[in-house]
Amino acid sequence: MDTDVAIIGAGVIGVSAAFRLQEAGLRVTLIERDGVGRGASFGNAGALAFDDIEPLASPGALRQAPRWLADPLGPLSLPPAYLPAIAPWLWRFFRAANPRTYAQGLATQAGMMRLASAESASLVEAADLAHMIRADGALDLYETRAEFEAAHPVREARRAHGIAHRILDRDAIEELQPGLAPDFAQGAFSPGWRAVSDPFDYVRALATAAMGRGAEVRKGEAAAVIPEGETVTVRLREGGTVTAGHALIAAGAWSKPLIEPLGEKAPLETERGYNTTLPPGAFDLRRHITFPTHGFVVSRLSSGIRVGGAVELAGLKRAPDFRRAETMLAKARRFLPGLETGGGTQWMGFRPSMPDSIPAIGAVAGAPRVLYAFGHGHLGLTQSSGTARLIADLALGRPPALDLAPFSLSRFA
Ligand SMILES: Cc1cc2nc3c(=O)[nH]c(=O)nc-3n(C[C@H](O)[C@H](O)[C@H](O)COP(=O)(O)OP(=O)(O)OC[C@H]3O[C@@H](n4cnc5c(N)ncnc54)[C@H](O)[C@@H]3O)c2cc1C
Repeated sequence: MDTDVAIIGAGVIGVSAAFRLQEAGLRVTLIERDGVGRGASFGNAGALAFDDIEPLASPGALRQAPRWLADPLGPLSLPPAYLPAIAPWLWRFFRAANPRTYAQGLATQAGMMRLASAESASLVEAADLAHMIRADGALDLYETRAEFEAAHPVREARRAHGIAHRILDRDAIEELQPGLAPDFAQGAFSPGWRAVSDPFDYVRALATAAMGRGAEVRKGEAAAVIPEGETVTVRLREGGTVTAGHALIAAGAWSKPLIEPLGEKAPLETERGYNTTLPPGAFDLRRHITFPTHGFVVSRLSSGIRVGGAVELAGLKRAPDFRRAETMLAKARRFLPGLETGGGTQWMGFRPSMPDSIPAIGAVAGAPRVLYAFGHGHLGLTQSSGTARLIADLALGRPPALDLAPFSLSRFA
């Protein structure tokens, strides 16, 4: 056997699991095709959005979607040529938006976020990365009373799950973030949000900490995962194999071809997102700001001011359309009039998304040595430490910290 656990994918999910498993005394080999943290984990907004418990598939999203889709460069887009490919996923999304499934999803995500918040604190402590975490909360800003009131059910759902927020008037908004356009008369402040100084730096530092404890990173692309009795063999496309006691499929948006040959149904799609990172002095941003009606955020990172978001349902192969990043930047300039928009770097990333917004975490039915953790959608950084805990529980044969039934792929069987 080459290693105790072979992890496919060194994004924030695979690397967090690697750290926890190596810390627990197992030997870990990370198999990575493109470089540690180069996937969706590279350029995300850096939010540890522990308050963000509402599944995207919701009655509210179904009401808002037609208006968003009507604008080709708006917050949600779906190129017509991709519609036949994504139709089954959309159908599942539509079905998950019914009030009962939505309420169950809320409770599942609330449990995951409580675990993630606690595990994040202990993970960064153990890896000596606490200096990379800020606790300055997040602002949601609205231009009209109607938009603010439309978000009331979300705030109520959070309150029902014990998540505090503060309602802000114009003066209170100005106090938390000077320099905004006068458009924003309504806001809400979420004190429970945290942020990493920079998501790519964070994943790399966590990988370095795991390697410091003995984890290995092997460059290569996993082509197949083959369970054989007491071991699992990962076959690499370049040739060669890695044989382990357990394998973990954590290949983000690319996990489907690795898991489906093992008999699991994985309705995984990608929600492509865009952003522009401006130089650090581009604006005196005090904390993360979300503009919910416009589907984008502005975040403060050590690498700069990042403006982005949006959802493009266009699969893994279509070329990026950076006009989406430009549209959000132009809006940000309107909302933050002093924003210096020159010198930015554009990026597009592939969020790995399940139709019900609940990540896929568990062990393959009939092959308990093959574990999986993917499909974290908009919240992979936030939920990475909670996921790592659950994967360590499974690999070590401990009772899992959460009931894993809602996360199991068997929900799609
Ligand atoms: C614009 C944008 C903003 C976001 N903002 C936030 C945020 O603020 N907070 C938050 O919590 N989340 C955010 N997200 C979501 C978050 O980035 C993702 O959920 C998370 O990064 C997923 O991590 P992952 O490890 O599953 O996938 P990835 O980071 O994509 O990692 C998967 C890795 O697997 C590798 N791989 C794939 N196939 C193979 C193979 N066959 N063999 C070997 N290696 C393979 C890839 O090269 C990649 O490195 C955002 C996403 C986007 C796009």
